[in-house]
Order: sequence, then C-alpha cells, then structure tokens
Amino acid sequence: MIINGTETAKKIKDHLKTKVHEHLKSGHRAPCLAVVLVGEDPASKVYVGHKEKACLEAGITSKAYKLPESSSESDIIALVAKLNADQGVDGILVQLPLPKHISSEAVIDAIHPSKDVDGLTAFNQGCLSLGRKALRPCTPAGCMELIKSQLPSLRGKTAVVVGRSILVGSPIAKMLLLEDATVIQVHSKTPHPENFARMADILIVAAGKKHLVNASWIKKDALVIDVGIHRGSDGKLTGDVDFESAVGVASAITPVPGGVGPMTIAMLLKNCLEAYEARVYGNSF
Ligand code: NAD
Repeated sequence: MIINGTETAKKIKDHLKTKVHEHLKSGHRAPCLAVVLVGEDPASKVYVGHKEKACLEAGITSKAYKLPESSSESDIIALVAKLNADQGVDGILVQLPLPKHISSEAVIDAIHPSKDVDGLTAFNQGCLSLGRKALRPCTPAGCMELIKSQLPSLRGKTAVVVGRSILVGSPIAKMLLLEDATVIQVHSKTPHPENFARMADILIVAAGKKHLVNASWIKKDALVIDVGIHRGSDGKLTGDVDFESAVGVASAITPVPGGVGPMTIAMLLKNCLEAYEARVYGNSF
C-alpha cells in the first residue's frame, strides 16, 4: 500500500480551514504567521512560497520578512524580538538554512517558545524530551500522523529511525517512544545499520542519502516512512529509500514526492493555529 501524504495533508488542512472560519465568525482576528527569509537561496524561496500559499488557503495571514544575505545575526535577532513582542503575530518561522556567518541556534532560540511553530527552540525540544506538551517539530509530527493512520497503537512495535538530526531523526525517535514503541536509532557512525533496520516493524529513514535503503534493509510487511528529498538533474524528486525495490517488501510505504513533504506544511499550519488559540483564548498546547 502506498501512503498518500497529499490526501492526508489535504484533510488536515481542510479541517484547519474550517476551524479558522469558526474563529473569524465568532469575531476574532485571523491567525498570523511571520516568515523570515534571509538571503537568496532558491530552494528556501520555493519552500517559503509553498508555506505562504498554504497559509492563504487555510485563512491564516502570512507576513514575509525578507532580509538581505549580508544581514548580521543581531539584525535578525532584533527582527525576531520585534515579532515576539507583536501581539498580532502568533507564529514565527525562520527559514533554514541561514547564511553561514549566522548561528541558526542563536536565532532559533531567540524565538519565544509560544510562537515557535517549527518546534525547534531548545525549550520546545526540551519539553518534547521530557514528554511535556509543546509545539512539536513539523516533519516528525507529520511522520507520526502518517504512522498513526496505519497503526493506531504502537505498543509492542519495534521502530528503527535512520538518522539523528535535531530537525528530524532525534525528535521522531522521542515521539515514537512516547507512543510506547521500542525505539532503535542508527546513524552514520553505526556499523551495519541495515542489521538494525531489518528488526523494524516501523522504519523511518531520514539520512539525507539518496536510495540508501533498499528491500534488503526491510523486514517483510514493515511500515516504511521515507523523509529524504533529493532533486535529480532532471528536476525529479526521490527519497532516501529506493521505492521500486522497497515497495514489494513493505506493507505500506510513503512515496517521494507526495508522502512526508505535504505533511510538514500541514503540521506547520496546525502548530500556527494552536499557537493562535493559546494566544487568543488562553488555551494551553
Ligand atoms: P541531516 O543531514 O541533518 O541528518 C542526517 C542523519 O542521517 C545524520 O544524523 C546522520 O548520522 C545520518 N546518516 C547519514 N548517513 C547515514 C548512513 N549511511 N547510515 C545511517 N545513518 C546515516 O539531515 P536531516 O535534516 O535530518 O534530513 C534528512 C533528509 O530529510 C534530507 O534528505 C532532507 O532533505 C529531508 N527532509 C525532508 C523534509 C520533508 O518535509 N520531507 C523535512 C526535513 C528534511
């Protein structure tokens, strides 16, 4: 079975759109996302464009702040501080990667945790590690939605995560653990990661290596989530999993494109609405 992330993301976005409409009908302002883009990275511009379009469709106001490549770290932190103080802004997203002379860590940690819709501040990552409620990183949260759509209970399941980045591998491992899965995490220093991968009922691959995983890594009938994105010279997107080889062994698998990618944006909108509801209604998230 091929898991349709585009369809699942659309259902979530339609639901969020209805909720935004209800807030507007009851006399509240629209939720607002501030997007900060530094420099001219073409891929970042495309991602920001997708996020702005998705906001518009859901009735969320998006405000873009485009800063030149030459901006200093303190220029960007000053803008983040201004957005933190703005009561009309619910979410702040700083598009990564930032230019090399800027510390992403310093900029991300300048975002107030209640507006951290990417769930990447040390505070929100810490809350996740402690199993506390918080805004959660979008790509891992999107993977979890897809996994739960196939397997409502993860108790008794073995999950193997390939990758340990702060953005994907590590938060998803924690989320799986919080859902009672038994979790193994492998990375670039693990000898023979394929031996661990073959133990997985759920295999999540976030290695950033095109077609690293093929059928020989996958236990029969495992659920496979491919997070990787690679654009070929022909413009086509592929993942970290060799889809043609894996599809015959897995019970269900996400394609690239149309798997995890659309879920990342749906989770960004969901986080934005949660941050808004916390601000406007005093809800906790
Ligand atoms: P990263 O480079 O920060 O981390 C990659 C991780 O994989 C590292 O922890 C490394 O130890 C591990 N790794 C590398 N080679 C390995 C190997 N041979 N065996 C085992 N582990 C290995 O990348 P990231 O930010 O975590 O992103 C991973 C992939 O996901 C990339 O292709 C990225 O483009 C993609 N991505 C997709 C989305 C989306 O929305 N679909 C979002 C974020 C990232």
